[in-house]
Amino acid sequence: MLATMKEVLDWAEREGCAAAAFDTPNLELLLAAIGAAEKRGEPVIIQHAQLHEKETPIELIGPIMVMRAEKASVPVCVMLDHGEDLEYVKRAVGIGFTAIMYDGSTDPFAENVRVTRQVVELCHGRGIHVEAEIGFTTGHEGLENSDDTRENVYTDPDDAERFVRETGIDALAASVGTVHGFYKVEPKLDFDRIAELKRRLGVPLVMHGGSGLSAEDTRRAIACGIRKINYFSYMSNAGVRGVEKVLAEEHPKCFHTLAHAATEAMQADAEAAMELFSMK
Ligand SMILES: [Zn+2]
Repeated sequence: MLATMKEVLDWAEREGCAAAAFDTPNLELLLAAIGAAEKRGEPVIIQHAQLHEKETPIELIGPIMVMRAEKASVPVCVMLDHGEDLEYVKRAVGIGFTAIMYDGSTDPFAENVRVTRQVVELCHGRGIHVEAEIGFTTGHEGLENSDDTRENVYTDPDDAERFVRETGIDALAASVGTVHGFYKVEPKLDFDRIAELKRRLGVPLVMHGGSGLSAEDTRRAIACGIRKINYFSYMSNAGVRGVEKVLAEEHPKCFHTLAHAATEAMQADAEAAMELFSMK
């Protein structure tokens, strides 16, 4: 069933765990993400990132995401990930997304507040919840050989407190030491910062770049207060491994054999991520 972000994150707070948020820019990822949630009997968040618009337009995959969520046996929030401008946010709202992440993190503070407030005003009247970001988490979701050389800017707790108060957002994406995409070096998470943000902000904390972290770091971040983890690159990569395995054994004539193998491998990866995030 279609769910709001608040419903899913309230569940995570009650359980002391983190909700999984998977980007699903194609049908195989979508089936894998919801398949994993249904198998585990847990709520989930599926997302379309504006960055993936070139791969799959939101007008194409968005309605399929909403329809699949409505038919799911578990609560599913359908969310825009890293919305970059108001026009794109409106497109997601028009399709029926139940949550919006707006990312003005590379703008100066005042500009980030100004546009985030516009997004909140647009969304709250429609029962849609908003996540926004302060600080900066470098890298790109699922882009190979990313040329992004920008450094992480850790979320400052004083700025974050002001940002939440002035924008009225429902969840905060905090930059705490993770990166988007594939890790080239061991990430160094700032757990004290997570705990301080959790104590001071009063809104759920979101950690982006959640795939590729060690199980130990992931659980410690959740114990410190992370309630939503964006997980994508390594799940997508699991699909490639699934296809490689089939091709090593046989050479199927039809593409759907490869699509099924990818879906199965990505669902297994998503289930493992959800098991880790559930803290059970
Ligand atoms: Zn992200």
